[in-house]
Amino acid sequence: MTGTASISATDTTEHRPAPATTTVTEPDIRPVTDDGDHDRFAHYTRRADANRAYVEGTPVRALCGKVWVPSRDPSRYPVCPECAKIRERLRKRAFN
Ligand SMILES: [Zn+2]
Repeated sequence: MTGTASISATDTTEHRPAPATTTVTEPDIRPVTDDGDHDRFAHYTRRADANRAYVEGTPVRALCGKVWVPSRDPSRYPVCPECAKIRERLRKRAFN
């Protein structure tokens, strides 16, 4: 299945300035991975938090409330169902 194909995972964002002309039509969130041993999901968190986490190693808070330090490629993991549900809700609100 390619349900997560539309989610782009970029590992080198710290080198680029944020594009100021991008039209934001949904919350500024991106998937990051759970670094736990058993609960291997890609959770959604705020892009700024994820970028800082990758650079400084600070923990992030996912939409579902999970707090951890992400370190792996999120594209290899299934999306956390709880985060997906919350993100869908945020998107609907953003389009209103
Ligand atoms: Zn989650």
